[in-house]
Amino acid sequence: MLGIETSCDETGLALVRGRELLADVTASSMDSHARFGGIVPEIASRAHLEAIEPTLDAALGQAGVGLSDVDAIAVTAGPGLVGSLTVGSAAAKALALGLGVPLYGVNHVVGHAAVDELVHGPFPERFLALVVSGGHSSLLMVRDIARDVVELGQTLDDAAGEAFDKVGRILGLPYPGGPHVDRLAREGDPDAIAFPRGLSRGKDLARHPYDFSFSGLKTAVARYVEAREDSGAGVPVADVAASFSEAVADVLVTKTIAACRAHEVDTLVIGGGFSANSRLRELAAERCAAAGVDVRIPPIRYCTDNGAMIAALGSAVVRSGVAPSPLDLATDSQMPLEQVVMGAVA
Ligand code: ATP
Ligand code: FE
Ligand code: MG
Repeated sequence: MLGIETSCDETGLALVRGRELLADVTASSMDSHARFGGIVPEIASRAHLEAIEPTLDAALGQAGVGLSDVDAIAVTAGPGLVGSLTVGSAAAKALALGLGVPLYGVNHVVGHAAVDELVHGPFPERFLALVVSGGHSSLLMVRDIARDVVELGQTLDDAAGEAFDKVGRILGLPYPGGPHVDRLAREGDPDAIAFPRGLSRGKDLARHPYDFSFSGLKTAVARYVEAREDSGAGVPVADVAASFSEAVADVLVTKTIAACRAHEVDTLVIGGGFSANSRLRELAAERCAAAGVDVRIPPIRYCTDNGAMIAALGSAVVRSGVAPSPLDLATDSQMPLEQVVMGAVA
C-alpha cells in the first residue's frame, strides 16, 4: 500500500505491507511559511508539486521496491487545504490509473489514529481515540477504524495545537509555537497560575461532556501577560507556559478518561501533532494507569503529518473490505470525521 499525505504543509509518502512499515519519507515546506507566522496555502500547494515525485522516489528506494510492486494507493481526501489536497489526489489518481490498482481516498484525522497499528499492533475490538493536532481536537469512539468511527466530542473553537501556537505568539516565540511552549513549560511551575479549564463545570460540562474549548484559556493567558507587562512586573514566561500546558493537558485527559469510563472502554489511542506534547503524554500515562486504561501513543515522528498514517489507514480499509473510491474521487477540505473513505459521488 502506497500512502500519500498532502493535506497541509507536509508531503508524506510511505509504503506498508499490512501493518508493517516499509518506508516513510516526509518533505516539509514549514520553513517557507515561518516568516509569515502561518501556513500560506499557495506556497504549500506549490511545494507539494515540487516535492511529490522526489519524495515518492525516496520512499520506493527506502523500501527497496518499484512502482510495479504497489498493489493499492491511499491518499488523503480531506480534511485539509484544498490546493494541497488536490496535488496529492491528482498524483494518486494518475498513479492508480497508470498502475491499474485501486485507489482509496481516506480521512486525514482518522489516519492520525490509524498509524498506531504500525507501532503497537492490531487494535482491540473497540477503543477511544483522542486526535489532537493543529486543526482538530476530537474524541472518537472506534469500533472499526475503516468504517465505524463516531465523534463523541470536539473543540468548539481552537484546536489544542492552534491554542499552543497562539500562546507561542503571545509569549514572543517563533512559529509554530507549540514545541517552543512545550520546551519552556518544562522549566516552569504548572501550579503558578490558575488558568481556566473550559467546559469543565456545571451546565457547561453537562451540555458538553466530551467537547473542548481553548479560546477562553488563550484569552486568559493574553490578559495575564498584558497585566504583568503593564504593571512592569515582568512576565514569568516559563510559569505561564507550564500553567497553560497543564490546563490544556488536564482538560484533555480528564474528559477522555471520563469518556472511557462511560463507554466501558479500556484502550485509548492518542494521535495527531499535538500528541507530541510532553505534558499530555505524561499526564495521560499517569492517569490512564490509575484508571486501568491501556494508553497507546505512537512515537513523535508518527504524530505529526506523515504518509505512514495514510498508508496504515488504507491497509485497515482493505482488511475491512471497504470498496475503493472512484478514480474521479473528490477531495473535501471539510471531510467529516465519521467518513473514513471517500465514496462515489451520489
Ligand atoms: P490537522 O491534523 O488537524 O489537519 P495539522 O496537520 O496542521 O492539523 P499536525 O501537523 O498534526 O496538525 O500538528 C501540528 C500542530 O501540533 C501544531 O499546532 C504544532 O504547534 C503542534 N505541536 C507539535 N509539537 C508540539 C508539542 N511538543 N507541544 C505542543 N504542540 C505541539
Ligand atoms: Fe495532521
Ligand atoms: Mg502539519
